[in-house]
Amino acid sequence: MAKAHMPIGVFISAGGDLSAAINRVLEIGLNSVQLHPPGPDLRTKARAREIADQFSEAGIDISLVFCGFAGESYKTISIVRDTVGLVPPATRAERTKVTQSVADFASWLDAPGIGIHVGAVSEDPKSAEFADVVRVIGEVADYCADRGLTMNLETGQETADALLHVLETANRPNLAVNFDPANMILYGSGEPLEALRKVGKYVKSCHCKDGTWSAKPGVEWGAEVPLGKGDVNIERFVAILNELGYTGPLTIEREISGERQTADIRAGVQLLKDIKAKLGIR
Ligand code: MG
Repeated sequence: MAKAHMPIGVFISAGGDLSAAINRVLEIGLNSVQLHPPGPDLRTKARAREIADQFSEAGIDISLVFCGFAGESYKTISIVRDTVGLVPPATRAERTKVTQSVADFASWLDAPGIGIHVGAVSEDPKSAEFADVVRVIGEVADYCADRGLTMNLETGQETADALLHVLETANRPNLAVNFDPANMILYGSGEPLEALRKVGKYVKSCHCKDGTWSAKPGVEWGAEVPLGKGDVNIERFVAILNELGYTGPLTIEREISGERQTADIRAGVQLLKDIKAKLGIR
């Protein structure tokens, strides 16, 4: 059977009660997820096979496994710059190993790739920092390629031009973009739809998330809001993905928890269904 174009999905964690998380995905009526893996001690091959079986029995595809690191903080944009991803020099080597362990886990799950916030890469392409971060990204991409995985860089912590420069400099065929349009707004990194067109050929996955600009973009956080209620223009976002020939999942990310999150995700699913119908995407 042909794969559906742009299946609607949701971002979930395998760290807590996985059966409950899977049931919630099924209740919402979805069969595609991006997954936060369990913590390092549980990232064994045996646990991966158990998780893969649970998802396959439920008929749910894992489209991406997402990296995260101990010590990261998203408290302010400036703290993100100091703590997130492969950019902070003090933890770069150690986190490279962690990323490779997530890649191993993703391959055991038979997932097609890993997603990662690499952090706020230097916008000065002549700096030693830029060169070393790109070197590490290339190394991890090669590690992923050996396991048949893509490495999808999440957008937002830099401008589209800076991200494009990273992708072109690293120059690996399996290096891709997980495009999160809201992040461009939340971090104040640029107008998301323009950015999507710039990096479009690299986009292999995305987050359907919405946000509103802060009064001081790039200094203070914008606000993450339910899908369709922010400044992204989700309908245009999906239309441009379609024009780019993108057929991958539309993975909803809603960064709150509890019943409000479930209600917002359900409303987001309906919105995306309506947009797909309007655009004639089946
Ligand atoms: Mg995201």
